[in-house]
Parts: sequence; C-alpha cells; structure tokens
Amino acid sequence: MFLFHGVITHFMQAEMLKEITDLSEEELERKRAIGSITTKTLSYLTQAFVTGGFNWILPVVFSKATDPLWPDPQASIEKRVEVEIYGREVRAMQSMIVHKITACSLLYGRLFTLSPNIRIERRDRAATGIHAYEFTQLDFEVRHASSRDIMKLVEDLLCGLIAHLRVEAKEELKLLGRDLSVPERPFRIYEVTGNEKEFCWVVNMPREFYDFEDFDTGKWDNYDLYLPGFGEVLSGSRREYEYQKIISKMERDGVRKESYKALLELAKSGRIKPTAGAGIGVERLIAWICGSKHVCEVQPFPRIPGFVGEL
Ligand code: AMP
Ligand code: MG
Repeated sequence: MFLFHGVITHFMQAEMLKEITDLSEEELERKRAIGSITTKTLSYLTQAFVTGGFNWILPVVFSKATDPLWPDPQASIEKRVEVEIYGREVRAMQSMIVHKITACSLLYGRLFTLSPNIRIERRDRAATGIHAYEFTQLDFEVRHASSRDIMKLVEDLLCGLIAHLRVEAKEELKLLGRDLSVPERPFRIYEVTGNEKEFCWVVNMPREFYDFEDFDTGKWDNYDLYLPGFGEVLSGSRREYEYQKIISKMERDGVRKESYKALLELAKSGRIKPTAGAGIGVERLIAWICGSKHVCEVQPFPRIPGFVGEL
C-alpha cells in the first residue's frame, strides 16, 4: 500500500494505483497488457531511431549539470535532489538536455537516449493524471536540424507507431478497450493552446535558457506536442549555442552558472553546434495509447507525486 502524505484525491482509491503486490488477477492481466504495449512501443521507437542513423547513448543519473526546469511556467518541482558524492555536489537528473547538446556537438550528429528523470513534483500534481516523480524520457537531438525537421520526424514516428500497434498489439488494445487511428499529417500548429481533440503542436513559449529565443522579435523557436484528450507528451526546441546569448539568459533568469561550466566553456570556444531536438515522455505516450486515467498506471512500480510505496 502507499503511504499517504498529501491530500486525499479521487484516484487514490483507484484500482490502477495499487502496487502490483495488491492487484487482483484481473488487474494484473490489464497491467500485463500495458506491459506488452510498452515493450512493443519501445522496441518500435528505438528501432526507428537506430535505422534513422541515431546513436543510442546510455543515460546519466547524477551530475553537476542538469535541466534547471526554470523558468518554465509548467514546472512544479517541490524539491531538488542534491547529494554529495566524492566530495562534490551533484543533482539527480531532471533531464539530460545539457548532456544531449554536448554529445550532439562533440560526438554524434544524431543521438537518442532512454533517460530516467527524477522530478519531485509538488504533491498536488498527483491529481493531474500526467505527473510521476520518476519517469523516462525518450530524448533525442540532431545537429543542424530545424524545428520543422524535428516536428516532421516526430509526426512520422508517431504515425508509424500507431499503425504498427494497430496490427502488432491488436489483442492488448482490445483488452484495454482502445481503438487508435493514424492521424493526418502535418499536425496543426497553435501559438497558444490547441484543440483538445486533435494531435497538435503548440509553439513559441518563453522558458529555459537552452531553448532558442530571437532577441529581435522576442519569439521562441520551441514546440510542444499535445495528444488528443490527454495533454502534453513532448517538449523540444532549436537550441541556443552562442556563448553571449546563453550567459545573458542565465543571468536574466537567475540560473546558477557554476552548474553549467562545461557547457559554457565549450560555447565560449565555439564548440557548441546548432542543434534541435525533443524529449518524449514515455509513460505519457503509453498512458495515452492504453487509455490510462493516470500515467502511473503504466509504471510497474507507480511513482505518484506525494505517495511512496514499499517497492
Ligand atoms: P519537459 O521538457 O520538462 O517538458 O519534459 C519532457 C517530457 O517529459 C514532457 O513533455 C512529458 O511528456 C514528460 N514529463 C515531464 N514531466 C513529467 C512527469 N512529472 N511525469 C511524467 N512525465 C513527465
Ligand atoms: Mg514540457
């Protein structure tokens, strides 16, 4: 059972949020169907990246440099996990953005990773149905890509995945009562909020220093993907790479420059390349595919904000 630390909310009693040790055989059956869809989804997506010439890099968990998640108005972190190891202060990974930009500049023109992210979300976020305090990002980056290149790549990837699962996960989708159809491309683009009933992009949002901002027009070259009836599943952007811009944004936002020494030194010597990329929330994508009411249902060991279980 989950220890209770916060406000009682409707989903707390929901069957889906029990730990696996408390599930009935019928509930385990549903969990297995979701697990099978997870396997098929990850298998399809990683294969698509590999055949597209992307290098698969392994994730990092503790680092001096992680996503500040600030000043993103969507962010709601209640605690940043900082620990000392070997005499140095490190943070648990909130996203591998800095590592992606660095590796995409120095190592591989195209890369992706399956990255565990730890974000101690405010406990009221448990009720959104789309927040976990540990989740996985399918995070990728491409050198010299434009936003439109990344959007097209994502649209093709998702449409391919849906078409694949309709055939290859027919039984699981039936058990879960889901009927998916492949959307039309290109998805529509909105500047503010989109139509909740369609796949759509939302662009031009002021947020963290690494998203590209045009200082003349005040426009941000970034994008979020929304899934119908669900919400945001992906965030991405073209990235900043010029030292002066990065520095001035960090100063403006009050971001600790000491945490980004490696990135700043590379940028100063012109070694950060223009890149663009995005991160897909794996649990959110699978929760949408499966029609889950809460993103934690797709986790074998649910990480619900405010609730710490035994496993
Ligand atoms: P971000 O760049 O912060 O938007 O994170 C990238 C993606 O990770 C988002 O679009 C979501 O799909 C996913 N994500 C972010 N925070 C959470 C969370 N607390 N629980 C589950 N997925 C998340
Ligand atoms: Mg986002």
